Amino acid sequence: MSSPDSKRPDLEKLNQRVKAARASTEARGETFYPGASRIHLASFPPKERWDDWVELDSKAWPRRVEKRYMLVPTTCFNCESACGLLAYVDRDSMQVRKFEGNPEHPGSRGRNCAKGPATLNQVTDPDRILRPLKRAGERGSGKWEPVSWDEALDDIAGRIRTALEEGRHNEIMYHVGRPGEDGYTERVLAAWGVDGHNSHTNICSSGARAGYHAWMGMDRPSPDHANADVILLISAHLESGHYFNPHAQRIVEAKARGAKLIVFDVRLSNTATHADHWVAPYPGTEAAILLAIANYLIQNDLYDREYVRKLWNWREYLEARCPDVPVEFESFETELKRLYAEFTFEHAAAESGVEAATLEAIAELVSKAGSRLSTHNWRSAGSGNLGGWQVARCLFLLNALTGAIATPGGTYPNAWNKFIAKPIHSPPHPDRWNELSWPPEFPLSLHEMSILLPHLLAEGRGRLDTYFTRVYNPVWTNPDGFSWIEMLTDESQVGCHIALTPTWNETAYFADYVLPMGLGSERHDIHSYETHDAQWIGFRQPVLRAARTRLGETITDTREVNPGEVWEENEFWIELSWRIDPDGSRGIRQYFESKQEPGTKLGLDEFYGWMFENSVPGLPEAAKAEDRTPLEYMRRYGAFEVQTKIGAKYLEEVPEAELDDVRTTENGRVYTRAPKPETANKCGTAAPDGDSEGRRPVGIEVDGNIIRGFPTPSGRLEFYSHTLASWGWEQYALPCYIKSHIHPESLEPGQVPLIPIFRLPVQIHTRSANSKWLDEIAHTNPMWIHPSDARRLDVATGDLVRVETEIGHFVIKAWVTQGIRPGVVACSHHMGRWKPKQQAESQRQLTGTVELKKSDEWKLERLSGAGPYESSDDDTRRIWWRDVGVHQNLTHPVHPDPVSGMHCWHQAVRVKRAGPSDSYGDVVVDTKKSHEVFLSWMKRTMAATQHSPDGTRRPHWFMRPLRPTREAYKLPTEAR
Ligand code: SF4
Repeated sequence: MSSPDSKRPDLEKLNQRVKAARASTEARGETFYPGASRIHLASFPPKERWDDWVELDSKAWPRRVEKRYMLVPTTCFNCESACGLLAYVDRDSMQVRKFEGNPEHPGSRGRNCAKGPATLNQVTDPDRILRPLKRAGERGSGKWEPVSWDEALDDIAGRIRTALEEGRHNEIMYHVGRPGEDGYTERVLAAWGVDGHNSHTNICSSGARAGYHAWMGMDRPSPDHANADVILLISAHLESGHYFNPHAQRIVEAKARGAKLIVFDVRLSNTATHADHWVAPYPGTEAAILLAIANYLIQNDLYDREYVRKLWNWREYLEARCPDVPVEFESFETELKRLYAEFTFEHAAAESGVEAATLEAIAELVSKAGSRLSTHNWRSAGSGNLGGWQVARCLFLLNALTGAIATPGGTYPNAWNKFIAKPIHSPPHPDRWNELSWPPEFPLSLHEMSILLPHLLAEGRGRLDTYFTRVYNPVWTNPDGFSWIEMLTDESQVGCHIALTPTWNETAYFADYVLPMGLGSERHDIHSYETHDAQWIGFRQPVLRAARTRLGETITDTREVNPGEVWEENEFWIELSWRIDPDGSRGIRQYFESKQEPGTKLGLDEFYGWMFENSVPGLPEAAKAEDRTPLEYMRRYGAFEVQTKIGAKYLEEVPEAELDDVRTTENGRVYTRAPKPETANKCGTAAPDGDSEGRRPVGIEVDGNIIRGFPTPSGRLEFYSHTLASWGWEQYALPCYIKSHIHPESLEPGQVPLIPIFRLPVQIHTRSANSKWLDEIAHTNPMWIHPSDARRLDVATGDLVRVETEIGHFVIKAWVTQGIRPGVVACSHHMGRWKPKQQAESQRQLTGTVELKKSDEWKLERLSGAGPYESSDDDTRRIWWRDVGVHQNLTHPVHPDPVSGMHCWHQAVRVKRAGPSDSYGDVVVDTKKSHEVFLSWMKRTMAATQHSPDGTRRPHWFMRPLRPTREAYKLPTEAR
């Protein structure tokens, strides 16, 4: 399934057109756009004219009507890429008329995907929640009454204060879907003294994170696609995924230069159509292919021998596994050849179903890339399979063999291509451990075990008094949604559920309070992501607040400019914290007070003003050059490039000043007594322990020099993970191939793998049902099935099929296509949004109305799909689509990977023609069975209580959000 290795004429033509445009621009004596994008897009309004930009009103055509705009930057909130947006604020109405790209943003460089401009739909959505609501009946009854912010805040603050006073800290939990600002809410929780952060990460990226973290102590890749010669993607990354828009544009640049693109994808995705080599392996066998490529490099001595000698922890491997051989690099090389010899192309072909010759051709390409090999895996295979975390580990093995780590065209660790600014206040770490998020069975999980919450509560492991869901919709997004409904409707398990959300969702229906939060143009956040070899910060801001401030108004509360009573979390948390500790006696309020006017409430102008002034190198100077304050600069441009060309930090020599009473171990780990320099940018990396004499790790010794190395215990790239070995996973301590739970050997007769995790390029997980433009483009999720399988089942496109999982079934339409591997079916996870019939008015553009029935089993029965309706937006009368897809995730039981904690999304299913009693959109689930599946996966785990090597709950050096104190890491004596 490899596409011909041909040049793409369309890209060449495009390149030529850009060159011609550049030449003609320069011939006119004008320059390319001089901002951070450094690319030419003639339509960018020059930043000098952002106060008063004039365009003709397209709707007035053929009349020539001028519109005057103030252009205000913000950051898109519709996926994690955080691309820059420019809001076009109409100077007459002071309302946003459209969103386009922000050319001052170094990551997205003025470009957006369809979801960015569609922010406008969300702002003007006639179905959005505009004021706080409190339930007025049973949970889930659909009865709501308006409530004032004051009343809601006082009630919630009172509950939290009481819980803190009674020592019930672990009953307070904040559960986040789409994060806004790195670290903001963690600090709020730390100020309260609770270990209450829960995330969505183990339905997202725990798998890949675990693979990368085990190698280098940093949990994400930052591929330098633009400069690569070979780009290897285990994903549909040109159209979706982590930072896909900033990456996609750089991949396309590389391709235009002649770089080769290799894509592993079981579907013929849009990404696969752009590949030079598209391979569609049997799902879960990706690691077998990667090891075959690695073996090719190893057996043919095509790897960077010196790089491996200097930077891998091969000594540790030899000591642990080969005590009888001399600890010499030559011994290790012999071992390396032995270790992977079985991973031949023939073995990989037998496992994956991809021809050995194709794999060999790919391996040859990889071998020629040298250090210009950029690779990427985030979700995809890493999040679908038992052992999927090893896919990222095996993929990074290729970079580690070729030395393509933090090189031009290679793959960087994320933490070096990201900038974390220091906040005005930093509360101490909480001194508690919450086992509802960090249960002892998963000591190595990369992030919280979020998917297990309903099962842990049902088992009586705790209860929640106050539970925030924040832009998070677990009933719909997570597997096993009916168990979430059971949890949320049981007040003995969840005392008060507060949904902080800009839009109705399936989880908010089961809340006590629904509190309306701002969209990307209605809130503050700061963020920075690893889009390329640079560091930048982006500023999300309420654009109408910024616009009116530019006109001289003073605005201190974002509710003054947002629609209705919509607020933003950052001001909400400050206000809530003050009400929890009104007189400051609990020690909480101090972290939410002004420094300029002690004893008064901290405002966000001061919060961000302090940050930009004090912890972003270069920003005060850049602002001063324009006679602005740093805050004014960020409000005007929305982004700042802190540094470019970061390079290989691990190769930097440790300065003399950091070397004091140094001790170097036999394996070359160097410890020092010199204190760590104060640096603003230290988040995002692990924290290896010091030595027994109180020194901290500072670097590694390589050929007599002390260089920084990596934030791992050994300081080197950990080919052999002593941590994995010592916590019970010796068999997985090296990059290896773990057979997935949907490997053919594990399937029962008649079962096939269902791939349920691919994204549609124009939809957002749970928040795009209120984007009419996006809904019109994509509004259904048929099951992809190959013609050979369709013939066997006697199914044609459009026919209904019943898909049976371990715990129930759903009924969906078939789409017969050659774009899927035979023997595998696939279904996008974006669709099937629903609302209970008692709440039929809540969200109407892309949701079905359903009846939820509960007997021995749950049944979701569709009453109607989408359709036209009257509203303040004339377009809602023109809705022509009826289909809204099917909610498949309800039928998935939890599959927690025992190492990474990742939910292993792929399902073993039986597909049949639908029967006479089946209707489109039916979902039937037995939650007793889902609990049994939960129990069966728990049997695979290695609990800290049995396997901790040192009486702690988790390796202290492993990354963890809201890291508690050292004391809290200790297992209770009775549990050891
Ligand atoms: S990739 Fe699209 S959705 Fe994501 S931040 Fe950028 S514009 Fe928004």
